[in-house]
Amino acid sequence: MMTRTQSPIIIVHGGAGKIPHGEQDQYNKGVIEAVEAGYDLLRSGSSLEAVVEAVRCMEDNPILNAGLGSALTIRKTVEMDALVIDGSTNRMGGVMGVSKVRNPVLLSKIILEKDKHLLYATEGAHEFARNLGMELISPEELITPRARDLLESYLSKLSAPSDSLAGKTGTVGAVAIDHEGNLAAATSTGGIRGKEIGRIGDTPIPGAGTWADDELAFSATGVGEWIIKTMLGLRTKMHLLISPTAEHALKRALNDMRILINGTAGAIVVTRSKGWVAFHTTPTMAWAMKEKNMKKSFLNPSGW
Ligand code: ASP
Repeated sequence: MMTRTQSPIIIVHGGAGKIPHGEQDQYNKGVIEAVEAGYDLLRSGSSLEAVVEAVRCMEDNPILNAGLGSALTIRKTVEMDALVIDGSTNRMGGVMGVSKVRNPVLLSKIILEKDKHLLYATEGAHEFARNLGMELISPEELITPRARDLLESYLSKLSAPSDSLAGKTGTVGAVAIDHEGNLAAATSTGGIRGKEIGRIGDTPIPGAGTWADDELAFSATGVGEWIIKTMLGLRTKMHLLISPTAEHALKRALNDMRILINGTAGAIVVTRSKGWVAFHTTPTMAWAMKEKNMKKSFLNPSGW
């Protein structure tokens, strides 16, 4: 029987960077659908179930950069990373560079539940999935015409002097706290558009793009190289120890990133006792949150 002491909260993000012109409403709809799907499970279930469902929902959304519609590598292929962490039990599972599973977050959750190895990469991850009886798909099935167009436009500007990793980003993530006060985080991504083959970002690195423990759950988005260099998840955790709120802690961590490497990022954080925050130093970040008497999204901060 659950001890109901905590009012459940879920926050999701649909990626930072620049939302392509005219797609704001679709991003907003995508994050709202995901937060509703996660919250439905959170009413009576665990934060782990809720974040996995919210991320699965966004992986299936072709507009968002994860699962179907993932950003493409420089060789026009898909390579996805994901990580799921259950803060209450310290279990985690993740995948790197996978291309033959429809929902990397579901495979990550099974890895977490098996509790043997934490991270599986490329063909080893596919073999693990096959042995479990999961359907393996052709990577082509994950490639959308929109993802091809965005890559073409990226490649055509490659020689531009102002080109940088920023703005090629997008990722999906969810953090939640359930009735029992358990925290969980999940993040999934196709990575940065035009990335080299074999490049791994921050998403599946515990403490960088994804983190959860008994105090906070964290999911980031932005240039993975910058997020790893500053270990943004753990940095936010360290700041939380001496900060009055989650908002202070995240803002301090992002300020460190700016000072140390002149980088930007976005993140969502929910804590056991210091509130929640969705904040970014990138131009935009699609996000939505829901709790009992409140729901907000980046387009409708006063509710939808
Ligand atoms: N952090 C992801 C990566 O670097 C991309 C993103 O969040 O936009 O793979």
